[in-house]
Amino acid sequence: MRDLYCYRDIAFSSLEEIRKIQEGQLQEHIAYCIKHSPFYSRLLKNVRAECSNITIGQLSKLPFTEKSDIEQNNKDFCAVTSDRIVDIVLSSGTTGRPIRMMYTDYDLKRLAYNEERAFTGCGLTSNDTVLLTCTMDRCFIAGLAYFLGIRNVGAAAIRNGHNSLESHLQIIKQMNPTVLIGVPSFLRKLGLYLKENGINPKKTAVSKLVCIGEPLRGENLELLKVGDELQSIWQAQAFSTYASSETVTTFCECTAQQGGHLLPDLAIIEIIDENGTVLSPGNIGEIVVTPMAVEGMPLIRFKTGDVSFLINEQCSCGRFSSRLGPILGRKKQMMKIKGTSLYPQAIYTALEEIDGIDDYYVTVSREIELSDIIEITISVNDASLTADMIQDKLRARLRVKPEVIIADSETIKQKVYTSKSRKPIRFIDKRQ
Ligand SMILES: [Zn+2]
Repeated sequence: MRDLYCYRDIAFSSLEEIRKIQEGQLQEHIAYCIKHSPFYSRLLKNVRAECSNITIGQLSKLPFTEKSDIEQNNKDFCAVTSDRIVDIVLSSGTTGRPIRMMYTDYDLKRLAYNEERAFTGCGLTSNDTVLLTCTMDRCFIAGLAYFLGIRNVGAAAIRNGHNSLESHLQIIKQMNPTVLIGVPSFLRKLGLYLKENGINPKKTAVSKLVCIGEPLRGENLELLKVGDELQSIWQAQAFSTYASSETVTTFCECTAQQGGHLLPDLAIIEIIDENGTVLSPGNIGEIVVTPMAVEGMPLIRFKTGDVSFLINEQCSCGRFSSRLGPILGRKKQMMKIKGTSLYPQAIYTALEEIDGIDDYYVTVSREIELSDIIEITISVNDASLTADMIQDKLRARLRVKPEVIIADSETIKQKVYTSKSRKPIRFIDKRQ
């Protein structure tokens, strides 16, 4: 495998230069997959010769890899002998049976390099002390990846993980972390908890919040309510970061906070429509990632199931690398209403712009003619706000007219904040 650091400044090169390096990396990656991965050796049996000098433009001719492929052929995705595997994580499969992702020593070094680049991109240095509020164990990769990245940056990690608000408060008091990593709604809750207990979050040393699992921004890269509140509660900059245990490559916002930068030497990204056609920048579709320089379980054109869009203009930070917009939803969450497609995040964004809304969840069911019925249950803290008024505002913004039901705050909280998930659950899909 190549020296990981040889292209570390590639994002600042011209698009042409980036493409040239990516193409070389892609050819090496595909050749490696064909030689070492039993799955790809079989899958690409008839196109081996064409693959040896494949261009980025020709990548779209290769088949996609879906999660169900890994689920059904888990062992055949492993490209090394078992003695080379040093870490195994579990990722939820399509049928509920977890799939194993296996990493070699090189893969963990790659992961460390990957997170180091993401963190330095949003301004972390060796002077930082980073409080991790996400778990290091339970067979997840995220916490470990962040820890390895923090170590590579030379900053100090505090691995408090999924612990109580009180324990995080004590750590903030005693150890003065400068960066928090966690789920936005949890970091918001933590800030409010500090306030309730007489500590002003603005006066702590925290100056950066690295946010995972929930979007901070909407389709136009504007801050959502949670992002706005988070930055004002902590008086800190909030950055979105996105990755998965399959793609092992991070898209993290830089100090310009305008979408997550692709690390071009580590992955190629495509956005596809429902028919698998590659879309041009700006168009919304499913994210497909080909992570490169992976040794244990290399993948080609992995369909993530997440939906977003690409921005291909140079960023104000100086990087030319493509940026990934906010995650707008899961592909399977897409709703169709009389030909218009809609993702839950668009509804959340529209609702958060309406003053007087306290909390909400969205229920979707299917009509016979492939058109969905959307029902939004809302609690209000302004009694003059009626269901009709909310419905009109939503129609103006979304161009579809969902049903709106007003309910009491307690009913909504019971649905949204369940003990099963750390994240609020606002989307109930009754279509299957
Ligand atoms: Zn940038």
